[in-house]
Formats: sequence, structure tokens, C-alpha cells
Amino acid sequence: MSETEINNTDNQLQLIPLVGLSKQEIIKILSDIGLEAKTARMRANQLWNWVYVNGVSDFDLMSNIAKDFKQTLKQYFYISRPKVVSEQISNDGTRKWLFRFFDENRPEIAPVDVETVYIPEKTRGTLCVSSQVGCTLTCSFCHTGTQKLVRNLTSEEILSQILMAKQLLGDFPNLSRPNNGLIPDENRRAITNIVMMGMGEPLYNFDNVKQALLIASDGDGLSLSKRRITLSTSGVVPFIEKAGSEIGVMLAISLHAVSDDLRNELIPINKKWPIKDLLDACRNYPGLSNARRITFEYVMLKGVNDSDEDAKELVRLLANIPSKINLIPFNPWPNSPYECSDWETIERFGDIVNKAGYASPIRTPRGRDIDAACGQLKSKSERAKKTKNR
Ligand code: SAH
Ligand code: SF4
Repeated sequence: MSETEINNTDNQLQLIPLVGLSKQEIIKILSDIGLEAKTARMRANQLWNWVYVNGVSDFDLMSNIAKDFKQTLKQYFYISRPKVVSEQISNDGTRKWLFRFFDENRPEIAPVDVETVYIPEKTRGTLCVSSQVGCTLTCSFCHTGTQKLVRNLTSEEILSQILMAKQLLGDFPNLSRPNNGLIPDENRRAITNIVMMGMGEPLYNFDNVKQALLIASDGDGLSLSKRRITLSTSGVVPFIEKAGSEIGVMLAISLHAVSDDLRNELIPINKKWPIKDLLDACRNYPGLSNARRITFEYVMLKGVNDSDEDAKELVRLLANIPSKINLIPFNPWPNSPYECSDWETIERFGDIVNKAGYASPIRTPRGRDIDAACGQLKSKSERAKKTKNR
């Protein structure tokens, strides 16, 4: 069958989002509608190139695809971008967007609002991406933890945060950079690094996060090196090994306490998987070496976990794991139950960690003035109420 003879005459067929489909999935759909294997492969390559390399979100702009076949594609697929509900720019150049995902092809799915943060530095730009709306976990120091899980984000929605940010930052061919903020110059990519550190626990949305990150790191996709993608987890032990072998990105662990008593209080998931189990899983993380270390995050909470003894115990616990330590000054949110440790205390803690061989362990807070810093994200989306007439 030629491409122009193919027609989706069944009006009941649901359109499929193109963003987030692997090449294999696109090839399968195109083959199922009658394209020969070789043509289907060629078309899948072209579609990926338009979507991920050129950032195109309109089939009509795909200049190497004939008009008739564009019509066919539109009968099976769609490409959408989230609505930008708001953009805030911090005085340090950090940007926080509130993206609204609403799938007009599936009106039965309630719209959700998602926060995505861009952190520019001189030579790199990091995008902090969300994996869920809200979180099932209730870490006591985290604002997202006060928002019930609304739902997992799809692979399309995870990737679309990156695509939309690239579009807004002029990070696709033929777009120009916005002239406010401290975005790296036009000779560099605006987004060089991805951290899965926005809203939600990525390992509780494993399949969608995996699919999105494999496309982000594919040389034909967004082409970001796996060494520049970091997945942060509160410690979902059974998925750690799987994350290493199936996704292969850098791992960050939200440790935050050196005793189970305290960690149970801060990160309740510790009751299920205590520190020993967590560190055992880290030791077995596939690909772990001195060149590919695990980052251990440690939020500095005044009078709670910030003593010299805590610092020494931290260094002792991590002694035989290739690791980096990242001390995060606590970022407050309305009515948060903790205070950030004094700067002197953070520096003293940092010195102990530093003397043990960990370079520059203190993370500079970014975007605090617009509530864009770690742990400050929370959207107003709520879980859809069950209606009687459903
Ligand atoms: N759910 C994942 C990833 C999202 S949170 C996780 O917990 O790892 C990203 C990082 O921000 C985690 O290390 C988290 O512990 C930290 N964080 C949460 N709330 C914070 C706050 N108020 N101040 C500083 N860091 C915080
Ligand atoms: Fe969820 Fe991470 Fe916040 Fe804990 S710290 S509530 S796991 S987003």
C-alpha cells in the first residue's frame, strides 16, 4: 500500500501522542497501518528528528514529508505542548514555570499543573523536571510531600517539560534566546543537564520515567549524555538496581539522616527500607565507579541533623561507596516545621565532609525568592473527585 492510500476511516480511533513514543512503537503503528518495514523505519527516524532535534510541534512544518502523508499522520498522532500558566524569573536568573497539561484528545483526563525549574549557570543550564503531580510520600521537610499524589505523569508529559523549556529558552534551531536571565550564550545549549528532582518520586513512576529518559539520552532523541542526567530518589530500594541497569543515568539519594530513628521521622519510607538496605542497594548500583559516583543529598536542618557527630557518621557510612556529598541548605515553605541550619554550622559540617575528601559539598540555594528551590514545589492541582455519574 502506498502512504497516500492509508486512511484512518474509523473515527472512533483515539489519537496517540507522538512525544514519548519510542522509535519501535512508531514503527509498529506505521507498519500496522500498512507501511512497509523500511519505509516505517525511515518515517520514524524523520518524526523523531522533527520532534526532538528540531523541536517542531506541527506536522505542517515537517518539510520532507509529503502533504498527503502528513494528513495520514494527523489521523493517528498528535503533538501538543503544555499551556504556560506562569513564568517567574528569580533575581539569580532561575526560572520557574507552571505548565498545564490538558489533553484535548482525552477530555476525560483532568488537567494537571506541573512545576518545572531552570537553573542557569555560566557554562551550563540544569532543568529540574517533575515525575508526578504531588507525591505519595510525606517527607516532613518537603512542600511537595504535603500535596497528595494527584497522578503519575506520562512519558509524554515528562518529555514535554523538557521540550517546552527548550522552546521557551530558544534551545532549538532557528529560535533565539530570551534576553533576560543568565542563560548560557547562544553557542552553547541552554539545557545541558537534567535532574529528576522536581515534584514526585521518580522510582514510583518507573516505566514512564524510564521511557522519557531513554528518549532524552538517545543520540537521535534529545541527545543528552546519561552522565548529565540525574535521578534523585528518597530510597525506593527495590527499584534502584533496575534504574541502574535499565536507565543507566546518574543516581542521587536523599539520605538526610545517619540514624534510622531520625530518618524514619524525616523520610517515612525509611521504615520500609532502612539505611542499611539503602546503602547495600547503592553499593550494588550497576556501573558504579570512582568516575560514576552516587550523590548523597543531605538537607541541613537546624538542631536536627547538623551536629559534628552527624557529619562524622555520614563520612563513615559512605566510606566504601564511590560517592559525592551534597549539603542542601533547608529551603523553607509556608508553615514548614524546620529552620535552616546557621551558615557557620553548615560550613563546619562542610569542613568535616571536605577533610574526608569530598570537594565543594555545599549546594548554593537557587531561586528561593520565587519558591523554586529544592523541596519548595507544590501545585494547586487536586485529585479529581469521583462523580456519581461516572
Ligand atoms: N522525590 C525525590 C526527588 C524530588 S526532591 C527525592 O526525594 O529524592 C529533590 C531533593 O530536594 C531531594 O533530595 C529532597 O530531599 C530535597 N528537598 C525536599 N524538600 C526540601 C527543602 N525544603 N529544602 C531543601 N531540600 C529539600
Ligand atoms: Fe516526595 Fe521527594 Fe518530597 Fe519526599 S522529598 S515528599 S519523596 S518529592
